[in-house]
Amino acid sequence: MSIALCDVAPRDGLQNVQPPQSPSVRAELVGRLSAAGLARIECAAFVSEKAVPQMAGAEQVAAQIEPRPGVQYAGLVVNMRGYERLAATALNAVNYAFVTTETFNRRNQGSSVAESMDEGTAIIRRARNDRRVAGVVIGAAFGCPFEGRVDPGRVLEQARVLAAAGADRIVLADTIGVAVPSQVRRIVSGVRDLGPEIGVHLHNTRNTGYANAYAALESGAQIYDASVGGVGGCPFAPGATGNIATEDLVYMLEREGVETGVDLDRLINVAAWLAQVLERELPGQLHRVGSFPGRVSAEPEARAAGDRSVNA
Ligand code: ZN
Repeated sequence: MSIALCDVAPRDGLQNVQPPQSPSVRAELVGRLSAAGLARIECAAFVSEKAVPQMAGAEQVAAQIEPRPGVQYAGLVVNMRGYERLAATALNAVNYAFVTTETFNRRNQGSSVAESMDEGTAIIRRARNDRRVAGVVIGAAFGCPFEGRVDPGRVLEQARVLAAAGADRIVLADTIGVAVPSQVRRIVSGVRDLGPEIGVHLHNTRNTGYANAYAALESGAQIYDASVGGVGGCPFAPGATGNIATEDLVYMLEREGVETGVDLDRLINVAAWLAQVLERELPGQLHRVGSFPGRVSAEPEARAAGDRSVNA
């Protein structure tokens, strides 16, 4: 069994980080991720730099990426204007994002959900016409910071419309990290057979992110958004914290027998590099302790003999 991982650190990860990182650092992060085997990377957001200064210079990020064959380099957009900017770059995929609930969507996109759905339909058509992968991200699909619980039927109906419009993939985002596994199972199962690839974008705000990823796996989701080191958080969602960490997710998936195509040691090095660049500890755990089984077992007997402590 194999699935696709999409590292969103250059976008979701860095959009909430102070100070903003330069386009060349962001492009270097993209390069390091693709060198570690990530076949999908969300590289930039084509949004107002007044609203998100961290994402300024998306065109420069795109221009500095050295593309590897077979890799999907996506940009996030929230309207056609953003898509027009992306279309002038070499990025070969678009993720159009809107929010499932009316209040959050108005705050985030400045339009009603119905208007955002129309915009999404137009962007999907344009992108397919331009031979770009046309992705849609449905934000707050598992809970909204302003409206609370989200009716799964609402998400399913929106996904149905966007699938019919020709979306190549639909990603269900737990923008504020409130989902629990049964919810993930229910919604992923509901959209699984619509036609597009189905993905999940999980935040670990309440420590349920990895359990939710596992539930998505059991329910047949094909794409998993995560950010190296677990860096990130939405600047418009109160209290939102980082995505699940890509390397922590890879560790679990690979040991469960799921192929990710990622070189875990190289990815751990990317997390360590990013922590240095950002001069902070990142929430991911694997990059602190290393993989298993791995290099820790270099001298197992000596280690065991010298270690008198009992760790039950
Ligand atoms: Zn996110």
